[in-house]
Amino acid sequence: MTLDQSSTIVVVGASLAGLRAAETLRAESFAGRVVMIGAERHQPYDRPPLSKQFLAGTWGMDRVRLREPEKIEALGMDLRLGRSACALDVEGHSVELDDGSRVGFDGLVIATGAHPRILAGTENDAAAHVLRTLEDSTALAEATAEPDTRLVVVGAGFIGSEVAATCHERGAQVTVIEALPVPLQRVLGEQMGAVCGALHAEHGVEIRTGVGVSRLLGDRVELDDETVVPADVIVVGIGVIPTTGWLEGSSLQVRDGVVAGPTLHAADDVVVAGDVARWHDEGLGREVRIEHWTNASEQGVVAARNLLAGRGAARAYVPVPYFWSDQYDVKIQVLGHPGPDDEVVVVDGSTSEHRFVALYGSGGRLTAAIGMSRPRQLMRYRQLLENGASFDEALAQEPG
Ligand SMILES: Cc1cc2nc3c(=O)[nH]c(=O)nc-3n(C[C@H](O)[C@H](O)[C@H](O)COP(=O)(O)OP(=O)(O)OC[C@H]3O[C@@H](n4cnc5c(N)ncnc54)[C@H](O)[C@@H]3O)c2cc1C
Repeated sequence: MTLDQSSTIVVVGASLAGLRAAETLRAESFAGRVVMIGAERHQPYDRPPLSKQFLAGTWGMDRVRLREPEKIEALGMDLRLGRSACALDVEGHSVELDDGSRVGFDGLVIATGAHPRILAGTENDAAAHVLRTLEDSTALAEATAEPDTRLVVVGAGFIGSEVAATCHERGAQVTVIEALPVPLQRVLGEQMGAVCGALHAEHGVEIRTGVGVSRLLGDRVELDDETVVPADVIVVGIGVIPTTGWLEGSSLQVRDGVVAGPTLHAADDVVVAGDVARWHDEGLGREVRIEHWTNASEQGVVAARNLLAGRGAARAYVPVPYFWSDQYDVKIQVLGHPGPDDEVVVVDGSTSEHRFVALYGSGGRLTAAIGMSRPRQLMRYRQLLENGASFDEALAQEPG
């Protein structure tokens, strides 16, 4: 279907990817109707501060907003907050909402993100927190307000690690439990995972690796080596699941995310963006799903452009992924696609000082670059990643 100024575009998900898509539709002069449906009752807000400044209490609600209310207003959308899409009819071009109403569309952007994975058996445990929403962050800040609160963080991924760092700085006694022998092993590989994991111990936070949680018992966590860790508050940070339940029964392919082609089209008039999107990355020659801020932002833009262009004229989305994580006094930044089995070479600085750049290589190619508190030096490798440079070429570059 060709979209014109009398068309309706529905955006499901009123967070980063959905907002960037809506802004792009207007920036590309689409003057038709835009309906944005968001399950949360808030205007679009930013999630990274929820484990950092907002949790620490140094930023209030005003700094967590993605846009000023007037800017949202200026997009001239039919914005339906506190409302969920619960079914999609791709062929009939309509979305069903949780109030029983239907919204027809000519084009659809799916940007429903992801939600936290729950530790089995903790669904009704009031002491077991997860962290995805403003409410989650507020509840966690309240629960850890008392100095010396004993906080157990289950999972030393990026969010668990940030929670550990922020709450430690607020005076909590933090223990981090990680089932893998090395934190972030599957994301960053053993060497860099160990460097990140060491940050906890170096800041006086206890980290126990290679041990799983067998039970949460209200005031303590029982581990599968039969030890027990006392806990006033528990945070479970064991990853997220793409939010696709509402697409059950639709003709879209769902497999750990909504499956899309290189141009982010999941169907002729349907595009996907953000944490929910599993698209075929032509650069890598395989499907990828990315759970990071910059991807959600960039993908929202490209998805909207490609929806307007139409599937035939749309361009492939081939990013150089980027993400960051702030833990203690360190900024970790990663460019590209690190593989857990890639070769890793430190090219600048020192890992023990937490100021360095290291490169990842596989099959003779540069695959990724990681830096700790070295933003300028790290960014020099972006172009090489974009150009598909060889590992040798990257290693030969002066880090400067
Ligand atoms: C605590 C925290 C800290 C983070 N820190 C970093 C960081 O430091 N660096 C980094 O790179 N990334 C970080 N991220 C990741 C980043 O925030 C996400 O990648 C980004 O929010 C993804 O945006 P999104 O729009 O795809 O999805 P989401 O932000 O998950 O938004 C999806 C929206 O869709 C809504 N929705 C879901 N289902 C429906 C439905 N059926 N109908 C209507 N609406 C629906 C949801 O309620 C939600 O509001 C962090 C995430 C969290 C939670």
